[in-house]
Amino acid sequence: MDFKTFNFHSSIAAGISAAGYETPTPIQRKAIPAVLKGHDIMGLAQTGTGKTAAFVLPILERLMDGGRGYVRALIVAPTRELAEQINDNIGTLGRKTGIRSMSIYGGVNIKPQIAKVKRGVEVIVACPGRLLDHLNQKTVSLSRLEILVLDEADHMFDMGFFPDIKRIIKQVPKQRQNLLFSATMPREILHLAREVLVDPVTVQIGITAPAETVSHAVYPVAHHLKTKLLLELLKHTTTESVLIFTRTKHRAKRIGEQLIKQGFKAASIQGNLSQNKRQEALSGFRDGTYQVLVATDIAARGIDVSGVSHVINYDIPDTPDAYIHRIGRTGRAASTGDAFTLVTDDDVSMVRAIEKVLGSSIKSKAIDDFDYEVPAPKNNREFKRPPRKPTTRRKPPQRQATSGAKRGGPASTGGSGSGKPRRSAGAGKPSAASKTRRGGNFRSNKRSD
Ligand code: AMP
Repeated sequence: MDFKTFNFHSSIAAGISAAGYETPTPIQRKAIPAVLKGHDIMGLAQTGTGKTAAFVLPILERLMDGGRGYVRALIVAPTRELAEQINDNIGTLGRKTGIRSMSIYGGVNIKPQIAKVKRGVEVIVACPGRLLDHLNQKTVSLSRLEILVLDEADHMFDMGFFPDIKRIIKQVPKQRQNLLFSATMPREILHLAREVLVDPVTVQIGITAPAETVSHAVYPVAHHLKTKLLLELLKHTTTESVLIFTRTKHRAKRIGEQLIKQGFKAASIQGNLSQNKRQEALSGFRDGTYQVLVATDIAARGIDVSGVSHVINYDIPDTPDAYIHRIGRTGRAASTGDAFTLVTDDDVSMVRAIEKVLGSSIKSKAIDDFDYEVPAPKNNREFKRPPRKPTTRRKPPQRQATSGAKRGGPASTGGSGSGKPRRSAGAGKPSAASKTRRGGNFRSNKRSD
């Protein structure tokens, strides 16, 4: 099957060629015909599946007919990066269509946005908060909206955007086409889907299995040796571009700095960075100025970093879904990727949960000449820091119980630097270190790199 099957307008076909797309991805194959027919869609797809073009292409097709100069399609996204990415995609795919699109998000001057809306746009890609500002100031009107897309709805929920989304929906015409995309389908998303979608077609791609082109490995190690092992891993592996995930902002920053010290072309992004610095780090990573990018889950949300050769989980994520999201950045379309996860003995149950979702066990590996026996320094500041309190978790209160339960409760936040009192298998004691080296509680099917 190729894109000709969809019979797109020639100017859209030109955009598809310009983007270098030859064959539609599975989500595109399933979603495009349904969107073209005008159906509402519940799309279950993770980043990296080609979901953006799956809604952008039929929206462009629909907008080829009808009026210009007013907002006809709105795409709501959780982060500025994702909004920019979608807007860029529309720019590429719609270059020859004359359809105008813009992104709207906070943290930047509102005036240029107002001026751009005034000049006339047919598509807005927006983060909820700033869009509401515009709606309240009446600098954006959605009174003639035809298509509403809610992208990465699960992330929007996690980030507490649902009340804003409901306010936005009150300001759009009742008669419209709705497309909702989410990588996961927790109860809250189901509720939203029931409220927003009318007789939807469900399109589901790889919700439980990540790209088959990704190979997975865990590297058991004691807490205090994680950074050393990470450096060794990077030295031992031929990597093109590496995305490293940490659980905390502080850690992302610190590891970024350590990598730079060691001579790596590295940058880090975390929530505390200014918009300019985030953009600088992201574009540097995309254009190869930086080979390694260290990020927290929230900071990395929606980033299109196709071509990432390795995802390294310095800290194991909180849920299997988060793991799938993280590794969605590697092994895309035509290329293969590796997903490495540094694990401590605290992470056994999460590894098992991830394996369940993957449907296979993950290889446990070790680096041959790495000294796993080094005891933890007595004054190890990194792991003396008090554990994160449940109240500081980013998830809204109603979901804390569930995610806490999945992790085995806050006490099991393995790599997060849980301080005193230390767990009995205190990482850093030689016995624990050697246990970890042997694979500890992990299967011993390791092989050296
Ligand atoms: P997405 O899941 O929308 O973030 O897309 C992931 C990556 O795949 C992006 O870099 C897209 O440009 C790319 N992509 C989307 N559709 C196709 C396609 N049909 N063929 C090749 N690459 C694609």
